[in-house]
Amino acid sequence: NNIHLFAVFVNGMFCKNPMQVTPEDFFLPRLNVPGNTDKGLGFNVTQVTATQLPGLNTLGISLVRIDYAPYGLNPPHTHPRATEVLTVLEGTLYVGFVTSNQANGGNKLFAKVLNKGDVFVFPQGLIHFQFNVGKTPALAFAGLSSQNPGVVIIANAVFGAEPPIYVDVLSKAFQWYGNVVKNLQVGFVMSS
Ligand code: MN
Repeated sequence: NNIHLFAVFVNGMFCKNPMQVTPEDFFLPRLNVPGNTDKGLGFNVTQVTATQLPGLNTLGISLVRIDYAPYGLNPPHTHPRATEVLTVLEGTLYVGFVTSNQANGGNKLFAKVLNKGDVFVFPQGLIHFQFNVGKTPALAFAGLSSQNPGVVIIANAVFGAEPPIYVDVLSKAFQWYGNVVKNLQVGFVMSS
């Protein structure tokens, strides 16, 4: 009774049988509905990737709707697989990205205040953010150059990792000593 099991690993999602594809596979409704910005940092991302819209699979593009409460923040994060181009539909956002390490070892911030109708691009892999600097809610839409862009929120990844990154590693990396790192880790673990 020798049963051999062969596991197949796929980098990405399977394609549906083309003969069984329907218009629904290319359709997603209700992107006009605001996301809930009550919790956390006061922002909400509604994703339209290949997970929500199967027809995007293999096509190298996706979309997000981002809602911001007054003073809401989409905190520093990066998309490993996509450039992002964002436009503001309502409100005023302070946005920016930081370059990869330059020849002199430094990193340069490219930042701008955006108003309704303005467009800004966040190049692939670079850390970027958006902050609603207005007293009213803000709304943006962004296109991303991958059907599965991925996201790494920097603070969560560094201080909220499970199991936690060894305190001595973070203390040395950030040149913070005493209980600073430990307190940050406790805050992130408890809030996640
Ligand atoms: Mn982004």
